[in-house]
Amino acid sequence: MPTNVVTRFAPSPTGYFHAGSYRTALFSCIYARQNGGKFILRIEDTDKERSKKEYEDNIVDSLQWIGLKYDEFYRQSDRTELYRESIRRLMDSGHAYLSKETPTDAGDRPAGRQNREEVIRFRNPNKKVVFDDMIRGRIEFDTTELGDFVIAKSMDEPVFHLVVVVDDADMGITHIIRGEDHISNTPRQILIFEALGVMPPKYAHIPLLLSGDRSKLSKRHGAVPITEYRSRGYLPEAVVNYLALLGWHPSDDKEIMSFDEIVGAFSLDRVQKSGAIFDEEKLKWFNKQYLNRMSDERFTEAAMPFVPDWLTTGSMLFARLSPIIKEKISCLSDIAGLFAGGGELAFVHAIGPYDPSMLLWKKEPDRSASLRHLNAVRDLISGLSEEGLTADGLKSAIWPYAEANGRGNVLWPLRVALTGQERSPDPFVCAYIIGKEESLKRIDDAISVLG
Ligand code: GLU
Repeated sequence: MPTNVVTRFAPSPTGYFHAGSYRTALFSCIYARQNGGKFILRIEDTDKERSKKEYEDNIVDSLQWIGLKYDEFYRQSDRTELYRESIRRLMDSGHAYLSKETPTDAGDRPAGRQNREEVIRFRNPNKKVVFDDMIRGRIEFDTTELGDFVIAKSMDEPVFHLVVVVDDADMGITHIIRGEDHISNTPRQILIFEALGVMPPKYAHIPLLLSGDRSKLSKRHGAVPITEYRSRGYLPEAVVNYLALLGWHPSDDKEIMSFDEIVGAFSLDRVQKSGAIFDEEKLKWFNKQYLNRMSDERFTEAAMPFVPDWLTTGSMLFARLSPIIKEKISCLSDIAGLFAGGGELAFVHAIGPYDPSMLLWKKEPDRSASLRHLNAVRDLISGLSEEGLTADGLKSAIWPYAEANGRGNVLWPLRVALTGQERSPDPFVCAYIIGKEESLKRIDDAISVLG
């Protein structure tokens, strides 16, 4: 087991935090936790034109929602002095020098910026750089083609490669776990480490997360901010579980795993080399598993922002509804649809006008029989005490009558009388939810409609 592991997640605050970045953060954090090490969040905001505080806040908020805790926090714009010292050191030791900016440096220049007179370049030793990637194995790179690359636009404007290396060295990062889109940056960064006289860390480049069409999931390519999943009613533990299993799976193929279980089972050499597809349907499946396992108390709390205004989560009514709601949804935002017009639980709040012919069982439509059964069932329900008015209590009271007179003939009109809907839970559950008084009232209304 490596000792004193320090990992970092180093996002640039240039877009909303999405699933791809989240998985990178997750793998880095898991690796640190697994080795009793430290996990650092470092905001890489040296690109002043594209970095925004709003995005930094979104990164912090997303990590908090998802429960990923970091041990230290840094922001590169607070560390300019350190970078200036490093540039000076590299220049003093002959590893960097002032030179004219050329058109080939344009890629390193923020859009709209004019050519400037001079930039600071790294003196490339033009050698072969080899590193052992913990996921991809040995990687060899001939750096000759890179030429002398820019590490700063001025003493106060270091660029990406320099700040990453200076920070990784200063923070004692032992393992860099990041997206494979950074593989091509690694040789330059290793050269800078060597010039600074610091041993490069170990690298693990994880495969990209892809969208359904196999294109890279990125902030510039339609990726959904992770906080959007919170608004859609996903549970953070389901998101963590699903994303950890994208590109990695434990040796026993277990699927439902808590963060601690993942930390216990994770290994970088089980991370696959090919890209993994992010599939919201699969995420829904994970979410449902977590909803099913939730205590009533936690479910009540989690559901609160998603229930319609008239339904108070602390109420007896909600307590009756919650197991049914839980069973019918995949994510909490599905709750609204259950109670909206056409939803299976719309009847709870109010019964809408319905066509009286709906009260007749389709297989044996018989008005007088339906009336007789509704009256009989009404009596059975009114004879029940409040304690007897559970779904089971109602079923034991009504079932023998239904068996004797034909289940469909008895239960269909009852269900429609209680709900006015084609689709709903069974009539015992419906009567239990709306209670004795309201059930009797709705049955009376149905009787007068039919009579
Ligand atoms: N700031 C870089 C990014 O957001 C990551 C740098 C790194 O992990 O080395 O893509």
